[in-house]
Amino acid sequence: MFDRVGQFLKPKQLARMQQSKLRRIVRYAYRNVPLYRKRFDEAHVKPESIRSLADLEKVPFTVKTDLRDTYPFGLLAVPPNRLHCLHASSGTTGKPIVVAYTQGDLERWGRLMGRTLDTTGVRKGDVLQNMYGYGLFTGGLGFHYGARAIGATVVPASSGNTKRQLMLMKDLRTSVVTCTPSYMVYLIEASKAEGYDPKTDFALKIGIFGAEPWSEEARQRIQGAFGLRAHDVFGMSELYGPGVGIECEEQNGLHVWEDEFLTETINPETGEVVEPGKEGELVFTMLSREAMPLLRYRSRDLSTIIKEECSCGRYHNRIKRIKGRSDDMLIIGGVNVFPSQVEHVLMNIRDVGDQYQIIVSHKELDRLAVKVEVPGNRLNDASLAKKIRDDLFAVLSIHADVELVQLGTLPRSEVGKALRVVDLRPKG
Ligand SMILES: [Zn+2]
Repeated sequence: MFDRVGQFLKPKQLARMQQSKLRRIVRYAYRNVPLYRKRFDEAHVKPESIRSLADLEKVPFTVKTDLRDTYPFGLLAVPPNRLHCLHASSGTTGKPIVVAYTQGDLERWGRLMGRTLDTTGVRKGDVLQNMYGYGLFTGGLGFHYGARAIGATVVPASSGNTKRQLMLMKDLRTSVVTCTPSYMVYLIEASKAEGYDPKTDFALKIGIFGAEPWSEEARQRIQGAFGLRAHDVFGMSELYGPGVGIECEEQNGLHVWEDEFLTETINPETGEVVEPGKEGELVFTMLSREAMPLLRYRSRDLSTIIKEECSCGRYHNRIKRIKGRSDDMLIIGGVNVFPSQVEHVLMNIRDVGDQYQIIVSHKELDRLAVKVEVPGNRLNDASLAKKIRDDLFAVLSIHADVELVQLGTLPRSEVGKALRVVDLRPKG
């Protein structure tokens, strides 16, 4: 059902495969999607002129608004009656993005998810409790298909209902959990509040966490509390869903499945290709997608490609953990701030709880306030507040107002991604 061979392709095999798939997909997209034909013609690029990987730079970019502007079916390369599934992203404003799959796409996605789970050590016989939301969001079904491909026992718990999650986790002897990292952090205190000992009452071995940026420090907290190995996973609805990249047992960067997702980094301002080792916006070319081919799709996610060999024996290039979506970047008084940087600082300080909130406001100047949960006996600890302020300044070069609040009082992420940033500044 899934190919272990694909994980261990040698560099030459991989390059040969990428080249022939690239040539084919470019011609396919040009022939079947009017938007691509228009873009290529406008750029005076003939699809036949894309012969090798070095020619990739000539291919015009695809951006998120292309999907919105052609809603719902404008990028389809097949007639609608060939579609086997449709997903949609949660559109915060206006129309969502619709992503379409043929039978072949679903099979390919399932195989890639199987390969992704296999890379973390999931095997037949594991009980995988899938706490990603089932529905239009691709997380739930993506992991479901992956577990099916492996032959693991999948528990389609979906998101929310924490008490039931914990009960199932204990009673079904769950060995693998999949959810957002912020929900897993929440489960540390929730399990204790329900009277469980997270380390001894559960049989967790592996956790696969993604769909939002998280920090190395959050990983340490999750691993320490549950005694599992936590893997970062990367994907996005536009690129099938989860399963584009995954951390191997080295936990040092995410292998991107480059036989399906050709990966580049670019300077987000100029569009110029940035060499591996330098940070840039990730750009993906899907090499086999039938229903909705995406060429040089700008992800808005910032990361760095690692070209060095990995000791696990996989040659697929790695990317560093996502620093943040360029859309999530806050500009506070002219300084770029990623919420993940704040988390990194906070989780490195002892006695600071796992929950925090970032509040940005404007009163003559932009102001950054950070609410941090601490135990009751530290609420009035001026030296702790000062340490947080100093450590934040050292990383962000911004003075933040730090407020210590009682453990358990900030809003929790019960259903999915954490709502950790409140921006009170007037829009526009
Ligand atoms: Zn590796």
